[in-house]
This record gives sequence, structure tokens and C-alpha cells, in this order.
Amino acid sequence: MRFSPYGPEAVFALQAVRTASRFVRHIQRHMVVPSMAKNDASPVTVADFASQAVIAAMLEQTFPDDPLVAEEGSEALQGANGAQTLKSVVDFVTQLRPAVDARAICAWVDRGKAAPADRFWVLDPIDGTKGFLRGDHYAVAMALVCSGQVVVGALGCPGLDPLEGSAAAGSAYLAVRGQGTWAADLDAGNLAQVHVSGRADPRQARLLRSFEASHTDEGQLDRLASALGCLAPPERMDSQAKYAVMASGKADMLFRLISPARPDYREKIWDQAAGSIIVEEAGGRVTDLEGKALDFTPGRELVKNTGVLASNGALHDAALRALEEVGAVDGQRMA
Ligand code: AMP
Ligand code: MG
Repeated sequence: MRFSPYGPEAVFALQAVRTASRFVRHIQRHMVVPSMAKNDASPVTVADFASQAVIAAMLEQTFPDDPLVAEEGSEALQGANGAQTLKSVVDFVTQLRPAVDARAICAWVDRGKAAPADRFWVLDPIDGTKGFLRGDHYAVAMALVCSGQVVVGALGCPGLDPLEGSAAAGSAYLAVRGQGTWAADLDAGNLAQVHVSGRADPRQARLLRSFEASHTDEGQLDRLASALGCLAPPERMDSQAKYAVMASGKADMLFRLISPARPDYREKIWDQAAGSIIVEEAGGRVTDLEGKALDFTPGRELVKNTGVLASNGALHDAALRALEEVGAVDGQRMA
């Protein structure tokens, strides 16, 4: 498959999330949690920084002028408190990049502090850190934003079933604006185009939701499912792997509501950029809870949007009506 425009960027994004996903899976397997001493570095923290450093290094080589907006900063690695974590990060990163030292690794991590610009990359080095710790789902999520629009998105999902007929573990997804969403095994192999479901009856809709109750409004989700008449219980899953599942037609609807415990919380761009284009280019629709397009221009948070609604498209209007019906939109706006 040749993409045009954004061919080199698409190839890069897929390679970046595949490399980082395999790397963090390796870290997960080699940092044995039960035997950890109290002052050992947490594997999820080590893997988060290592993933960001490695992708920033790849970006520096391939697109040296492109800014990177990413979740982590190296402050937590500096000073006595971060020493153990930094040592582990260096131990792992030097397995991929033998000649580098701690300073170079921190500098790569801090490439992620750039401000959003007319063209910039967005990275969540491990989306769904709690899923990573539990051994469930997580994703490495990378996207390119140009003039406020996500134009390329890639997800590495080590916990997602591979494509049908494949014996490999994990999958990767790539979307390019106007050119579809594509899936492949995580490790290697060709891309196959994927599409959202055509399910249009809300009663048959398969809902996805966060595994972590604290990331959403559980009561409101239950009311929405009742308003829609959904028969099946929602599937709980961490990270933007949910968007990959929807893009493959295996689920149809996802509400990101604001948690009553964190009314000030606003969605981070790295939690939505890659996932949103993966759903849209598979034929789905992604808006906020009022039906407005997600606005990636204001900075590191989606401050101009309230919540997120993603669907297969066919169910989107029904979902927006259900949000009105249960009063979720007003409630969320006031949150
Ligand atoms: P999920 O697995 O879908 O719950 O999404 C995981 C992402 O949710 C993480 O990357 C966090 O950055 C983000 N997150 C953390 N706290 C909250 C919150 N209170 N509300 C919504 N998302 C959150
Ligand atoms: Mg995240």
C-alpha cells in the first residue's frame, strides 16, 4: 500500500509504534513485578519513558524539524527520586541504541515538550498504563496534526488479537486522511483495510467503555445504555485499543464522559488524536458530546470540547439524542 500524500509520514508512524510497542512488551516481560524491591523503579514508568525516548530519537532522525507533543517530561528522572528509574530506562534504551547515555535519553524525552504548531506530532508512549500494569490492553499512540487536523494516526496494540488467520501476537493500526484505516500484525507483515460495522439499530449496539471507573461517569453510562435500549453489556477495555476495535467493526459506540470525581479533567490530545482518525477513516464518526468536531488547535488539551463520542457513524445521531435525553450534555458542560 502506498499512501499519498503523507506516504513517508505514514510509514514512519507505523514503524515507530511497532518498534515502541515491541520494546515496551519486552520491558514488561523482563521487569518481574512480584520480585521487585520497594525502591525498584515501576515497570510502567520505565516503559513509558523508554518508549517516548525511542520514538523521539526516531523522529529526530527522520523528521528533524517536526515538533513533538508527548505526555512525559524528564523532570521525574532527574534528582535522587528518579535515579533508579533513570538507571533502568538507560539499561533498556541502550539495548536498542547502544552508544547513548542518560543525558541523551533525557534530551529525547524532552523533545516531547514542544508546543503544538501548524504541523506537529502527538505521542502517548503508553496509553492505558493501568492496563499495562494489569497485563491487559494498552497502546502506543502516535499521530501527525497539520493545520489543526489529524492527518496520520498509528496505534500499536500489543494486547489486541492479531488479524484473523495470523499466529502473531498483537496488532498495529494505521490511518491516513482520505486513504482509509489499515491493520497489520504488530511485528511485521502487510496491511489490510478495515471498516466499522454497519450496525444501525441501537438495541444491537456494542458499547465500549474504560476499564477504570474513575475515568468516566458510570451512572451516566448506564442511563445512556438504557436510553438507547442496548441489549448487550458494554465491553470494558483500557486505552485507545478501543478505537482499533471499533475501526475493525467489532464494537460500535464509545462515550468518554467526565468523571464526577474529576470535573476539571479535560481530554489530552495524545489520548484522542490517533484513535479519532483510526475510527473516522474506517468509516466512523468522532465528535464531542454536543456533536462538534474535536479541535486540536488550542494546545495539549481539548479545551474547546466536552467529552468524546465515537461511533460507527450509523449510530451517531442516536447516540447524540440519547445524550440529550439523559441530560448528559448539560451536566458535562457544567462539570
Ligand atoms: P481509558 O483506558 O480509556 O480510561 O483511557 C486511558 C487514559 O485516560 C489515560 O491515558 C489517561 O491519561 C486518561 N485519564 C486519566 N484520568 C482520567 C479521567 N479522570 N478522565 C478521563 N480520562 C482520564
Ligand atoms: Mg493516555
